Amino acid sequence: MLTPPVSFFWFRRDLRLTDNAGLYHALKSGTLVIPVFIYDTDILEKLPDKQDRRVQFIQEAIKSLAENLEKLGSFLRLKQGKPLDIFTKLVQEKTITAVYANHDYEPYAQQRDAAVEEYLKTRGIPFYTFKDQVIFEKNEITKADREPYTVFTPYKKRWLNTINSFFVKAYPTEKYFHQFASINSVPLPTLTDLGFQHTDLVTPNIRVAEEIITHYHKTRDYPAQAGTSRLSVHLRFGTISIRQVVQLAQRLNATWLNELIWRDFYHMILFHFPRVVSQAFKPAYDHIPWENNEKYFAQWCTGTTGYPLVDAGMRELNATGFMHNRVRMVVASFLCKHLLIDWRWGEAYFATKLLDYDLAANNGGWQWAAGSGCDAGPYFRVFNPAAQLKKFDPGNLYVKKWVPEWESSNYNQPLIDHDFARKRAINTYKAALTDF
Ligand code: FAD
Repeated sequence: MLTPPVSFFWFRRDLRLTDNAGLYHALKSGTLVIPVFIYDTDILEKLPDKQDRRVQFIQEAIKSLAENLEKLGSFLRLKQGKPLDIFTKLVQEKTITAVYANHDYEPYAQQRDAAVEEYLKTRGIPFYTFKDQVIFEKNEITKADREPYTVFTPYKKRWLNTINSFFVKAYPTEKYFHQFASINSVPLPTLTDLGFQHTDLVTPNIRVAEEIITHYHKTRDYPAQAGTSRLSVHLRFGTISIRQVVQLAQRLNATWLNELIWRDFYHMILFHFPRVVSQAFKPAYDHIPWENNEKYFAQWCTGTTGYPLVDAGMRELNATGFMHNRVRMVVASFLCKHLLIDWRWGEAYFATKLLDYDLAANNGGWQWAAGSGCDAGPYFRVFNPAAQLKKFDPGNLYVKKWVPEWESSNYNQPLIDHDFARKRAINTYKAALTDF
């Protein structure tokens, strides 16, 4: 049966209709566009907790997309399964001119997309993909010899020298909304249909107060204050455009822009060095003889280490799916250095809990904390959790919120002495790195 030709736009980490690079190109191409989202069972089946805030976040974003498409006389085609199987079926149902999507730099996504592209090619269907998730990708910012940067400061310098209004200009998708194919609305799958349960998700506001950004450089390190944007989950799932966010940063605050450049940097690192997913960026660090004490790890996970700032951070993470950046650095350093537990354990725990979990940024953050990362500090710099608490939570407001029993006799004794742990970490790292 011959159907009128259509193109597909495949939503993934770009769950919005406006300023969306791949969607813009699909709509502008001239064929009618069917928007599709696939609940990828390869990913969903691997999520250990069936009360996962991220699945609910996605489901809510999908609902909003579908409603907005309905207002345009279209709808979102929702599929559940393995992407390659889904496209195999779609090709049988429709005459497809092309499939459009945006780049995804994670190794799993790269393989998935390569398989889909290869299959579509056998059917004579092009798979067009675009940069959308970052400002600069892959080889756009490289050293003079075209090799990727592995140190942040020169990367950032080149990034800032390269950026201009072209790179942050919004894609005017709305000009072509009439190109969406008309589709009847259908009931959306519920969380239960997807095998998940409702959670206590609190979605951070997508409209960040300009005042927060204006004062960011002064407030960003204090977890008791609302001093950061909380946009990370929106950037992760693309409910906001990075171009829009960078424009705001350019206008309001260079320190905040710096953080967005770190985001580009870690995506670039993951793309060029996918081995970091399982290995230390600096190979010598894979020779550290981790103690990997399971009891200590459990205490770290549950926020019962007897170090108030560490415990507050872990409890905030467990209770909300968020942890302030300063505290992420402290808890990560504590796990790797004080407890000599492999950074991969901490990274994996964060991956199950963080609402904003992003492989590139999480891996980058953990390898930075462990010292093994591309641009990590020297191994002998060990965060002192008590000094960090004094400096960054001077009124103890953050700690008291999450560890109310602190300062009472009910609170745990520190599970390890700071001076002992610091010396042990330095000696262990030194021996492993010298021997290598
Ligand atoms: P803001 O301070 O307002 O920053 C704005 C945006 O910049 C963030 O939303 C984020 O997209 C980006 N950003 C900020 N800092 C970094 C950074 N160091 N690296 C990369 N991007 C950054 N961030 C994630 O988005 N996902 C993660 O899984 C993640 N895991 C981390 C693990 C560790 C051990 C550490 C130390 C950091 C991690 N970060 C991660 C980076 C950072 O902690 C969060 O991006 C930030 O706390 C999110 O809060 P915000 O949106 O208010 O950020």
